[in-house]
Amino acid sequence: MKRLAAIVSVAALSVATGAAQQLEITRNGARDTIRGPEQAYTGTAIANVLFGASAERPLTAVEVTFEPGAHTAWHNHPAGQYLVVTSGVGWVQQRGGKKREVRPGDVVWAPPGVAHWHGATPTQAMSHLAIWQFVDGSGGELFEHVSDEEYLAGPAATE
Ligand code: MN
Repeated sequence: MKRLAAIVSVAALSVATGAAQQLEITRNGARDTIRGPEQAYTGTAIANVLFGASAERPLTAVEVTFEPGAHTAWHNHPAGQYLVVTSGVGWVQQRGGKKREVRPGDVVWAPPGVAHWHGATPTQAMSHLAIWQFVDGSGGELFEHVSDEEYLAGPAATE
C-alpha cells in the first residue's frame, strides 16, 4: 500500500512538472562489443555492454564470453555482483575458497567487497551476464592476475 502510494505520487509529480518519461530501447547491434582489457583479464574475453552505469542509473549489465582458458583477474565489487551463466562451462572462486564449476542457468552472487574471479574452464568457453551496481562512480577494485597455479588447482567443486 505504501509502495503503491509512492508510485502514484511519482506519477502525479511527473504530470505536475510535465516531465514526460519515455521508454528507451537500445537495439541489438547498436552497442559496442569490446575485448576485455589485459590488466583485467587473462586470455580473450569479449564484452557486450548491455547498459552502462551512470550517476543517475548506477546499475550495469555486461554480457561476457570467455574463450577456453580466459578468465578475469582477482577483483571485487562495492555492492556485490550477480553472474547469470548463459552457456558453456565455467569456474568461479572467491579468495580463500574452493574453485567451483558453473553451468548455464546457474546464478552466482559475489557479496560486496569479496575478492573473486570468474571465467571459462581450460577446455570449454563460458558466457555469462554480469549485473552489478556502481558506488560513488566505482564498479570495483582490480587486483592481481589469477596465477596459473590458482587457475588450474583442482578439481572444481560442483556443489
Ligand atoms: Mn566479478
